[in-house]
Amino acid sequence: MLIRATALRRRVRGMRRRLREARALARAFQWPHRPILAHIIPTRRCNLSCTYCNEFDQLSHPVALEEVRRRIDRLAELGTSIITLSGGEPLLHPDLEAIVRHIRAREAIATLITNGYLLTPALIDRLNDADLDSLQISIDNVTPDEVSKKSLKVLDRKLRWLSKHALFDVTVNAVVGAGSSNAEDALTIARRAHDLGFRSTVGIIHDGKGQLRPLGEREREVLRETVRLERSVFSFERYNRFQETLATGARYDWQCRAGSRYLYVCEDGLVHYCSQQRGNPGVPLADYTQEYLKREYATVKACAPYCTIGCVHRVAMIDDLRERPVETLQEWFGSPGSSAGLPRPVRVLVRLLVTGPERRFVRGAARRMLGI
Ligand code: SF4
Ligand code: SF4
Repeated sequence: MLIRATALRRRVRGMRRRLREARALARAFQWPHRPILAHIIPTRRCNLSCTYCNEFDQLSHPVALEEVRRRIDRLAELGTSIITLSGGEPLLHPDLEAIVRHIRAREAIATLITNGYLLTPALIDRLNDADLDSLQISIDNVTPDEVSKKSLKVLDRKLRWLSKHALFDVTVNAVVGAGSSNAEDALTIARRAHDLGFRSTVGIIHDGKGQLRPLGEREREVLRETVRLERSVFSFERYNRFQETLATGARYDWQCRAGSRYLYVCEDGLVHYCSQQRGNPGVPLADYTQEYLKREYATVKACAPYCTIGCVHRVAMIDDLRERPVETLQEWFGSPGSSAGLPRPVRVLVRLLVTGPERRFVRGAARRMLGI
């Protein structure tokens, strides 16, 4: 009975969330100079010390709740759609639920990236109450090694708790590349995630500067198989041309929108391009204006061709879609110059929203329905 009630609540919340995600996407299409995604760092401290990581320390104090709230307010004023708590390990922050509540009160989508070690059923329930939208748990290997202790062996119990209690979306992120000793681990982890009803993503581990190390043949095959587990044609994770290209060691040409569509706000409240480009532009969030958002939208980043940072790539994909919808979809589905390879639901949407004679009417109706 309890399990059925949880499943029903999860479904209702999931439907409300899909609606908010559709609204966020529509806003991203409507306003090109508003941030789609911001990562904020409520604490730099981490309870682990993965050897490939340059994003943590073991002594920082958590940022005071009032200061985190001020930063969330500023991001909301800039029109940010999704605010992600990252770190360090955000579960170490003593006011985590209050922070999540504040993000939701400002009508942004609230997400969280964690190593999962501190999850308990009681904490999952509190995150449900705070109306968290989504949690990403990162798992690097099947058994702990000297590089990383984020292991399926250790974290499987946490995954089972999430499966039983969480009303929010759960994504398990596996990795291939530098520092990951067994390529098959990513596939094992992704399959376990799908068995438990979660989504999975796979990242290519970057080096200390956020840059690429080419993958071996088996690692590339594992990357492909892991991505294929995601079945929905509406999931951005399926379209990973950037990873396919980078995995061979080749450069990938794209326009990074960091500093505009994506913001990284460090523990000191400064806006940086991303975790690997701290200091650029390094402006206090309180002083970050529309002018910066416009300027950075167009700034060419020299680090882009070999960048593996998936969330910034995916944000940029939205602008590719916005600026060249048909060509972008054709590229994603591997049929440049032809729409024949697009799945039927995608073709219907393209006709309704982009190419069909009724597109203006349909777009207007969709905007009204989504309240933008
Ligand atoms: S758990 Fe995450 S933040 Fe902590 S050391 Fe590992 S990769 Fe870095
Ligand atoms: S390309 Fe963009 S996301 Fe990647 S490292 Fe450079 S600034 Fe960061």
